[in-house]
Amino acid sequence: MSYDRVALIGLGLIASSMFWAMKRAGMSGHVTGYAQSAETRDTARKIGLCDTVCDDLTAAVANADLVVLCVPIGAMGPVMAEIAPYLKPGCTVSDVGSVKRAVIDAVKPHIGPNIHFVPAHPLAGTERSGPESGFAALFDNRWCLFTPNGADREAVIALSTYWQGLGANVDELDPDHHDLVLAVTSHAPHLIAYTMVGVADDLHRVTNSEVINYSATGFRDFTRIAASDPTMWRDVFLSNKEATLEVLGRFTEELFALQRAIRTGDGDLLHDYFSRTRAIRRGIIDAGQDTDAPDFGRTKS
Ligand code: NAP
Repeated sequence: MSYDRVALIGLGLIASSMFWAMKRAGMSGHVTGYAQSAETRDTARKIGLCDTVCDDLTAAVANADLVVLCVPIGAMGPVMAEIAPYLKPGCTVSDVGSVKRAVIDAVKPHIGPNIHFVPAHPLAGTERSGPESGFAALFDNRWCLFTPNGADREAVIALSTYWQGLGANVDELDPDHHDLVLAVTSHAPHLIAYTMVGVADDLHRVTNSEVINYSATGFRDFTRIAASDPTMWRDVFLSNKEATLEVLGRFTEELFALQRAIRTGDGDLLHDYFSRTRAIRRGIIDAGQDTDAPDFGRTKS
């Protein structure tokens, strides 16, 4: 057990998965939770999410050895400002935000001299949100990236042990580099999925029911991604503006090149391009970050 008392602020997909993973590992001393709405707190109490659910944010963090901010990125700074005076000296504050530079800029100014701040980002999620969406295995064999930014080494090591207990592998990155990497691997793909589903919705000659009834795997995968939480993703794009725009600029150039190859009938270019991208998929499977099963292991029904 790495921390005696843990406080989870925000009780959605990530916090609920952390709680169930802590329970599974038998590593939770006492876990308090807080969410902004009475509805979410009531649901949490009903399903046994957290040992204590607090109606008051400051009560939730009192005496905690680890406080994890599991709220949308735009809420991290205001939440931190509110809890700062009530933190136990020596405690560690972390977060799970999908963007790191913006979270560091918003949270760090409120970190007192006796508090350790270790920003983190578990690369694990689903398109679902809320207190009932979590499950213990969410972080198994996924990366949790730390951007310690000069944090106390003992605090970093303790948090690494904690995340490994939840099933994750831990690595460290510079925050700006993290944001660029994630713009490529997660943020731009989400925007492209949102756009593609928007395009299908706009195509009046294809009725919605045809899009839904005959959706092929490619489009289905886009719709799954495009069902992700609107608040979370609005905050991701607004807080990782520069890197996302950089990646989208490159994406647009590549798209134009492929568009031109289709128009001019340049099959060699298309074939070479798709061979290169297929190899990237192979690399992801070899790294144990996805399944090799056809259609992601979906069973035919
Ligand atoms: P979620 O399921 O939508 O849950 C968000 C929680 O935050 C809700 O319980 C919500 O409370 C609470 N909340 C929102 N604003 C708050 C505020 N001002 N004060 C206190 N609580 C507040 O979200 P999630 O998917 O767990 O995401 C949480 C964080 O994890 C985000 O920063 C996101 O970037 C990061 N993340 C998400 C994923 C993913 O795939 N989902 C993956 C990695 C990291 P109410 O229900 O009462 O509104």
